[in-house]
Amino acid sequence: MQKRRKLTKGQKTDLLIRERWTCKECKQPIQRADLIEWDHTLALARGGTDELENIVPLHRQCHLLKTFHPRSRATTLASDLFEIAKTKRLIRKREKPKVEGGLKSRGFSKRFKRKFNGEVEER
Ligand SMILES: [Zn+2]
Repeated sequence: MQKRRKLTKGQKTDLLIRERWTCKECKQPIQRADLIEWDHTLALARGGTDELENIVPLHRQCHLLKTFHPRSRATTLASDLFEIAKTKRLIRKREKPKVEGGLKSRGFSKRFKRKFNGEVEER
């Protein structure tokens, strides 16, 4: 993954002013006391840049929603982590051995043996 920009205090203030202290996700004002997360509008993983133009302040909660919830408002750009998790689940599912088949073949190899020519004979 691309290296992420470390925002300076001045850059953060600039971004907050640019966005009029408003969260892009919920459109609610951001208070000074709020936990702020700096979000790439277009995720780096999807080809977004690490430039200030591509970074917006979000409430921490809104950022979590955008990142994890597949049906959040920013659904087309978000849910990268959701997709990654889904892919991992699918891979796990595919690699998981079928219990029934596994047991059968173990029983099979105990009772029979396969000869080099492919024939099977009882032990
Ligand atoms: Zn918000």
